[in-house]
Amino acid sequence: MNLNIPSIITKINCNLFVKKEVKVFIKRDDLIHNIISGNKWRKLKFNFQLAKKEGYNQILSFGGEYSNHLHALSYAANQLGFKSVGVIRGDKKKLNPTLSFCKSQNMNFHYLDRSIYRSFKYSKKTLFDLQKLFGKFYIIPEGGNNHLGVKGCQEIVTELDCDFDYICSPVGTGCTASGIISSINSNQQFIGFCAFNKTFEQHNSIVNYCNSELYSNWHLIADNHFGGFAKINSNLIKFVSQFYMDYKIKLDLIYMGKLFYSLFNLIEKGYFPSNSKIIVLHTGGLQGLEGFNFSY
Ligand SMILES: *Cc1c(COP(=O)(O)O)cnc(C)c1O
Repeated sequence: MNLNIPSIITKINCNLFVKKEVKVFIKRDDLIHNIISGNKWRKLKFNFQLAKKEGYNQILSFGGEYSNHLHALSYAANQLGFKSVGVIRGDKKKLNPTLSFCKSQNMNFHYLDRSIYRSFKYSKKTLFDLQKLFGKFYIIPEGGNNHLGVKGCQEIVTELDCDFDYICSPVGTGCTASGIISSINSNQQFIGFCAFNKTFEQHNSIVNYCNSELYSNWHLIADNHFGGFAKINSNLIKFVSQFYMDYKIKLDLIYMGKLFYSLFNLIEKGYFPSNSKIIVLHTGGLQGLEGFNFSY
């Protein structure tokens, strides 16, 4: 696989930023690879390495039917010579573009009832049943959210060769955030923009990965989700299209669109001291956009 790592950094030029005396840069993890979007490769990298080292030839993971994670995983597995299984939340339906793509990468699917998925997807019984169906596999949790995922996301910061005051990223499981928080200096701040209304769980997950006493230079912006995961409105859609016209950078509606919408508001309100240098991590997610258009 050809990966553009380290990912490039570009500056966003905008009158508002000049007026408020801040500089904003985007770290383009969305350009790491045209299929494996953004932070998903970061989270998979060390998991695939360990799976290989331990002699597995099959990877199993979990996700919803629009999962960016399963999309990336199916492709990486296929490229790297692994079989893959996607355990999908909900009942079997017609394949959407995300799952059709996964299927084209030879991913096998197993559907779990939503309530079982929510509470028992990692239970002994579920895993035992899956093993009977598919044979031996290396498990990657939903979203690639484990210690090796965090380790991969630390490289987002270690490969940065410029100074900055703030680094911003969307927050789903909190895995990417944990990698960043545990790698920045104490005079740098992380701001996480929550993509859904589970700030308490996201916060706890980050505290678990990063020893919270060691790191206090971070916080989460909770009221950033437009009413919930994948909830959107016309302001957000307008904002994302304007952003594309102005900067020629595509943002997905679920993570990056909401982040920039809130970030512009924070800058407008004078949240950042003058001369602040802000880096925004573009975590990709553009394949989901296709799935999203499909469902509307
Ligand atoms: C998965 C995903 C996230 C969330 O990352 P976490 O590590 O789960 O917090 C953010 N942005 C995009 C585009 C994603 O696909």
